[in-house]
Amino acid sequence: MEGCNVNGNTDEEHIYPPLAFTFGWTVGMTTLLDAGADPFCALILALYYKDDFALSSLLEYDCALFSSQQHISKIRPYNRLHSYNSILSFALGLHEATAKAKTLITGRLVGHRRRLTDWAAAMFSSVERQNACMETISDGRLLDRFAKPVVLALCRKGSVVPNVLWPGERQRSVYHDPNMTLLIAEQLYSGGFRSVDDLDEDGVTPLQIACTNVDVHKERWELISWYLDKGAMPHFRNPNRPKNCFLAISFSLRNQMITDIEESAESVIRRILRRIYDLCRSAIVDSCLCYCSTYGCTPVQLLHKRYGWDWERRSAKFEKWAYLNDFTPMQKESCGEELCRLEIFERLGMAHTCCYAKPKPLARGECLVPSDEECHELREEDSNFSHTLELYMSIYRRLRREHVGPFSNFWCDWWAAINDILPKEDRGSHSTSSNDYVPSIGEIRLSVQSKLRNYKVEDCEDVPLDSIGIFL
Ligand SMILES: [Zn+2]
Ligand SMILES: [Zn+2]
Repeated sequence: MEGCNVNGNTDEEHIYPPLAFTFGWTVGMTTLLDAGADPFCALILALYYKDDFALSSLLEYDCALFSSQQHISKIRPYNRLHSYNSILSFALGLHEATAKAKTLITGRLVGHRRRLTDWAAAMFSSVERQNACMETISDGRLLDRFAKPVVLALCRKGSVVPNVLWPGERQRSVYHDPNMTLLIAEQLYSGGFRSVDDLDEDGVTPLQIACTNVDVHKERWELISWYLDKGAMPHFRNPNRPKNCFLAISFSLRNQMITDIEESAESVIRRILRRIYDLCRSAIVDSCLCYCSTYGCTPVQLLHKRYGWDWERRSAKFEKWAYLNDFTPMQKESCGEELCRLEIFERLGMAHTCCYAKPKPLARGECLVPSDEECHELREEDSNFSHTLELYMSIYRRLRREHVGPFSNFWCDWWAAINDILPKEDRGSHSTSSNDYVPSIGEIRLSVQSKLRNYKVEDCEDVPLDSIGIFL
């Protein structure tokens, strides 16, 4: 093979490097690797083809686990590495990667980082360690977020750090991954990666990322719970995201059909939601100013805002949310009132001046608030609508006060009456005239009361409305 390029060319026509043809043929693989073949692209293919034996052989050969510029090819499948920091991230995000493959890579990563940490511990004095953010390595922990500055400091000292120990370009912890699983997190932690609550370059913690990626499956919730067990802070500091775990989860669930949660996952999710609520209950309203809410966005607004679902699906979602959160009658009343405000607001075609999801391709989980100037303008434009909205709400409150039955009966009949009066389309888009679809107050009252008259009052349990507080 003297004089040959053992790496071949990976371009549009040749996506397989020579190493890929040695999968299952250990002698051939070792020969190429000994001759200097770069195992990085072959690792990706081994993951794609679920070839754990080839993966294991390549990893044993001390392959680098973090991408550097030279590895990033523009062709498929290698171009996907642009969005991943490391082979572990790539494997976590790859449907084809087996559980064994992920565990093998995690084990290797721990091994590499142990070598780097021990090396740094031997090379730097305790004073130097403090200066270079390396104080954490003294208690047996592995270097994580600060691994890159440590490598650079080692280079400045004249050390030649092998490529295999390169910790990646980005200054973030190994937990900063949208596809992190509980199993891998546990393996990383027991291997020595103990900083589960570090900030990345954007000021985001792994717990925030987990909240952003929460869905109807219990695994994501269990990871959130695990971060909390390990001492992660439930309150966040990044200004462009919901400010705590509970708000972040509500925001993320806006596009999830929580009514689809499987029965087996329900008890887990309910337990974890209860725990998160207890941790965040002092700050469950944000500081947004919008006609859609009374005091700022609450979880119920974040859960429903601007998602364009019809009332039937929206109210089913609300029922499920109330069940998952184990709402007291009072909490359900106050959340229902806020949801009612939001629904009428959007059906009237009013414009939000509160936080909203950043459109693609910007970061998932981030929320924006329109500029002060824009908010001011929108609120001015909607001032007529806001009077209409307030009228609807005052009728809602008055009828609820007059009604002696349980909230659920009132809620059903209120919507049965109001649904036909409110516009059904154009949800979220701005209407031009405040007189569109606005019935007279008498009309609304009559319509609702005709429904309410059907109650058998003696069957109903009375809920004292005076004591109803805001859901805080
Ligand atoms: Zn709003
Ligand atoms: Zn908000």
